[in-house]
Amino acid sequence: MHEMSLAEGVLQILQDQAQAQSFARVKTVWLEIGELSHVDPDAIAFCFDAVVQGSLAEGAKLEIIRTPGQAWCHDCAKAVQVSSLIDPCPVCGGYKLQVTDGQEMRVHELEVD
Ligand SMILES: [Zn+2]
Repeated sequence: MHEMSLAEGVLQILQDQAQAQSFARVKTVWLEIGELSHVDPDAIAFCFDAVVQGSLAEGAKLEIIRTPGQAWCHDCAKAVQVSSLIDPCPVCGGYKLQVTDGQEMRVHELEVD
């Protein structure tokens, strides 16, 4: 499953952070998931619970923040919101769009002990 390896990636980040900042427990993880990222938040939550078993983040709460898709419209010369990669510009209906945000998944913040 796609989300399983992503959840393992998140755990890896937590372990790296724990070493860099010397904390022992992770209590809450705020995870940003872009609306254009094709990551299923329910699936990632389920996988996260599974991969953190026995780790420093066992029992940690996963808070998911959805970040909206954003693109730059070259015709309008401004940033617009899009809900998929194949959407036209919601303002002018054109397709000269460059996606600038909403494709990523990243750890936004941690609550640790
Ligand atoms: Zn436009």
